Amino acid sequence: MSVRRWIQVVATFLSNGYLMFPFTRNIYQGRLKSLCLPGLNCYSCPAATGACPLGSLQTFLANVRPGFDAGKFHPGFYVIGTLGLIGSLAGRMPCAWLCPFGFLQELIHKIPSRKLEIPSFLSRFKYIFLVVFVVLLPLFILDPYGYGTTWFCKHICPAGTLEAGLPMLILQPSLRDLVGILFYSKLTILFILLAAMVFIRRPFCRMICPLGAIYSLFNRASIFRMIHDPDACVKCKKCYLDCPMGVKFYEGANQPDCIRCLKCYTESCRYGAISLEFGTYRVMPDPTRKKDTLQESN
Ligand code: SF4
Ligand code: SF4
Repeated sequence: MSVRRWIQVVATFLSNGYLMFPFTRNIYQGRLKSLCLPGLNCYSCPAATGACPLGSLQTFLANVRPGFDAGKFHPGFYVIGTLGLIGSLAGRMPCAWLCPFGFLQELIHKIPSRKLEIPSFLSRFKYIFLVVFVVLLPLFILDPYGYGTTWFCKHICPAGTLEAGLPMLILQPSLRDLVGILFYSKLTILFILLAAMVFIRRPFCRMICPLGAIYSLFNRASIFRMIHDPDACVKCKKCYLDCPMGVKFYEGANQPDCIRCLKCYTESCRYGAISLEFGTYRVMPDPTRKKDTLQESN
């Protein structure tokens, strides 16, 4: 198993490490829950140890108006600062290494089947989900008391249905009486996406995830970046074929959908066309792999 896989396993366990939930039959609400996790992981998952950054952002925006009215507006430094700090350091890297829902998509995609590619314009849809469901609706659709709601969590998030909705119905049978059309529509979204994961590489990350959309805005400017050397690149497209996000790295580094899994750098490219950069420090490709390639081609 690769180092990244191990880190994904550990991150998934740490994000969902409250193992007392079968006995308490409720969600963990201890002090750790005030911490914003780097990946998408539902706050209401009974095993979740921390808060989902996307849920926290929506909750902050949904409470802006009452906060203003009460003269207690605070600018949400914590959640915006956490996302900004992670994004500025590593861009979309947490999606590849720390996000439990990203990990799940990669595992399901391993099921043998014919694999499909999606048109590239579909990857822009995640910005629409971000602007509409995470920012505008929570901010402007308010109840009579001036409170907004977490629209993406309530109406779309498949991670919430999988990690929180379904387990809570098992743990608390009385909740089953409250199940209505909203739950069934979210369940449908979840099942469609689970099926799509078999055929398409990370469909939720590429087309829907607003958290990935936020991190992607930092990809070109973050301290950690990837470099493509067009002179060394032979356009063999191996990086694209191996990429869990279907990124055509040979068309340029640090594209919005690159989650910095580093597979193209460590495994795919045998022509030394990919290097890494931390600020001003450059990590060149492993020269032995390039030598292997030259020997193979002789
Ligand atoms: S694997 Fe390397 S050489 Fe091949 S297309 Fe990608 S960057 Fe270029
Ligand atoms: S382009 Fe390379 S680093 Fe980026 S997601 Fe694809 S394989 Fe991973």
